[in-house]
Amino acid sequence: MTDETAGAGQPDLAREIAACRACAGKIPYEPRPLVQLSRTAPILIASQAPGTKAHDSGLTFDDASGDRLRDWLGVSRAQFYDPANFAIAAMGFCYPGRAGSGDAPPRRECAALWRPRLTDWLGGVQLTLLVGSHAQAHYLGRGTMTEHVRAFRDHLPRYLPLPHPSWRTKLWMQRNPWFQADVLPELRARVHALLQARRKD
Ligand code: SF4
Repeated sequence: MTDETAGAGQPDLAREIAACRACAGKIPYEPRPLVQLSRTAPILIASQAPGTKAHDSGLTFDDASGDRLRDWLGVSRAQFYDPANFAIAAMGFCYPGRAGSGDAPPRRECAALWRPRLTDWLGGVQLTLLVGSHAQAHYLGRGTMTEHVRAFRDHLPRYLPLPHPSWRTKLWMQRNPWFQADVLPELRARVHALLQARRKD
């Protein structure tokens, strides 16, 4: 939970999420839910789950994946971590531990427990970025990540699917050059327009 959401005037929902221990004993660390919430944020980043660095620092996307995502969005760290711009709520709010050669998937109980209330609560969201296959499966249903991202225009203006910005994505981007040519310009234009409109309110 970032300071912006943990301070005075913090909504009850953010406080409840910060206190959640539903996965205690099922994950290798003490649960540390990480979200960035604001009722008026026009953009929601629905991502996968925090990694180890974010778990340690308490700041979501505080790593190379976050740097890549900010580059895709065309925003600075200050803009990214301003909850008035972006709500950040992964499909699992806590680091889920390892599985095989990578991180485990987000805990299923997290979306079941929190997503419906979160969606109702985030009343100002106009665009939800579906970052990675877990968010896409939840919001869009069946299909591979590449299929969902390639069909991004079908989901606009409400959703925009993206790959997870991990180091593995570099190879995926080389194989799918349409992502840089078509998706990123659309993403940046929409993010820029929504942030501009927010500043004028
Ligand atoms: S992953 Fe979600 S449900 Fe599990 S402890 Fe963290 S906040 Fe609670």
